[in-house]
Amino acid sequence: MGSIEEREEALALAAQAHDVGWAADSTPWQRALRAISGGKWGRRRTGWTVIRLDAPWQDTPSSERPGWRERAANLADDVAFAVDYTVCARCQLGWVEWPYTPKKYQRCGLATAGLEALRLEHPGLSWHTLGGHFQDSLAFWASVGAGVPGGYQQRETCQHVPEG
Ligand SMILES: [Zn+2]
Repeated sequence: MGSIEEREEALALAAQAHDVGWAADSTPWQRALRAISGGKWGRRRTGWTVIRLDAPWQDTPSSERPGWRERAANLADDVAFAVDYTVCARCQLGWVEWPYTPKKYQRCGLATAGLEALRLEHPGLSWHTLGGHFQDSLAFWASVGAGVPGGYQQRETCQHVPEG
């Protein structure tokens, strides 16, 4: 549980989840992926260059999973929330994995807002996880998955996206 100030900052951050800065996607693997996908991965409103580094939320290549993206929110040089994700437009599927919120920023709506922003940016997808859930996160997934197509149920990646 964080201080009142920290929690107020986190609540304000959650309300800004639509305000995302996009970082360049430039590894050879990711360029290849974009080519394979017919440019879908490159057809973002804001392009593939860094537009606004000062945006409260960041979208960058995942450091853990080649070809995946990481959506993160930062407070005072601190990661307040982060989740890895990937989408397949052809299969209309999305995956998120390993959402992370430090304890002091939990229960401020950051994960809910971050996942909702991803869903709004990719309308019509069913959302899943790879299933690396700990038992104690089942309540979390039940909560954020309520009413969501796919419900963040475990599902293997399709052939079009990196396995993660
Ligand atoms: Zn697919």
